Amino acid sequence: MDQIKIGKFIAAERKEQGMTQASLAEKLGISDRAVSKWETGKSMPDSGIMLELCDLLQINVNELLSGERIMKEAYDKKAEDNLLALSKELEQQNRLFLRTEYFIGFLGSIVGIVMVFLAAFLEISTGSRIALIAGGILVVFIISFIAVGIEQKAGYYECRKCHHRYVPSYWQTNLAPHAGRTRYMRCPECGEKSWQKKVLTKE
Ligand SMILES: [Zn+2]
Repeated sequence: MDQIKIGKFIAAERKEQGMTQASLAEKLGISDRAVSKWETGKSMPDSGIMLELCDLLQINVNELLSGERIMKEAYDKKAEDNLLALSKELEQQNRLFLRTEYFIGFLGSIVGIVMVFLAAFLEISTGSRIALIAGGILVVFIISFIAVGIEQKAGYYECRKCHHRYVPSYWQTNLAPHAGRTRYMRCPECGEKSWQKKVLTKE
């Protein structure tokens, strides 16, 4: 057994639990000199106190004796898997958002065009005709604003120069010239203007 390593481990786990040597000693009903001796590797906690100590440090005896968290790699792997699953979920959500954008944009354009067509061909008063055209244009405007809002929030834009990926502000997105979902914007990272591609993930 490596007493120095175990001592360092006890100290680290004690701090992790937000305890001082004195407060740990008090909880165990021993002197803080004893705790200090463990932590400097001069002595080992005796078996009578070991279980209680492990309980307070929220480790198991096996870990105490090996002076390290066991299965740390397994924990890390799990955390990595969780993160990966989360980003996959986000990517899927973004994909759905962008499909919704297409759908809303398509529907809005159809409604707008139909309204303008009706205005042109129906036998109605001039007032109604103007109202119908204005309504049609309004629908297209509103829909395009909503669609840009969805596009801005879903995923990221990638700078063509430095490949930095970021979420631009709503107005930066809306006012930028665009071809499909590629928009001409200034990159906040390198400051260069370029045609930036919509991407679904941050990496
Ligand atoms: Zn850039």
